[in-house]
Amino acid sequence: MTVSIALVLPDLLGTYGDFGNAVVLEKRMTWRGIPAEIVTVKFGESVPSSCDIYVVGGGEDTAQTLAVRHLREHPGMQRAAQRGAVVLGVCAGIQIFGESFTRADQVTHGGLGLIDSTSHAGGSRAIGEVVATPANGLFEGMLTGFENHQGRTVLGPSARPLAHVKVGTGNDGSVEGAVQGRILCTYLHGPVLPRNPQLADLLIKWATGDELAPLDLPAVDRLRVERAKAAGV
Ligand code: GLN
Repeated sequence: MTVSIALVLPDLLGTYGDFGNAVVLEKRMTWRGIPAEIVTVKFGESVPSSCDIYVVGGGEDTAQTLAVRHLREHPGMQRAAQRGAVVLGVCAGIQIFGESFTRADQVTHGGLGLIDSTSHAGGSRAIGEVVATPANGLFEGMLTGFENHQGRTVLGPSARPLAHVKVGTGNDGSVEGAVQGRILCTYLHGPVLPRNPQLADLLIKWATGDELAPLDLPAVDRLRVERAKAAGV
């Protein structure tokens, strides 16, 4: 079986090369002999409900408002999430997956209701390197990335944080990201998966049910160490 990765609206939501998250998932599967393919879904196209993993990136307020409208008109990803597909949402992704988000212009929009959260505009933009420790032993090592967002996110009782913030802001200065079932969200660009391959492997494990053999990739480890140093850890 080929694992299909939907790269959702990269033409609207793709700040800081977030499409790289789909590439990392595909590569880390094919390197292990698991057949995988990327299905790109652009603005104006319908969203398939048959994919195994969905990857949504970040974008500015106007782009994310267009994206949420499109995804409501073409609810393939939400249908897939209901049957347990794996979904990754980055930055604008975490905001549109929630119940609602209030933009910097104070206009509130309904979200996709995939996770129990609401987002609102903070008093300042959160910009810079982030370091966070995974919550509930979800994966090993530190989570690192780059954030650039005005929005702040408050989780409801059904959503758990992805990590606890050591450096940077994340959702609110305290916790970072969200996990609800197999939906995983983060504020971290970078893109997040090349910088945090252990997170990529968690998503692959959820999608395939396979215990994954480790990959020996010194360049990936060097990138992680270098970015952690840049973030001051
Ligand atoms: N528009 C959102 C905000 O500024 C998300 C930004 C992003 O995805 N980088 O909060």
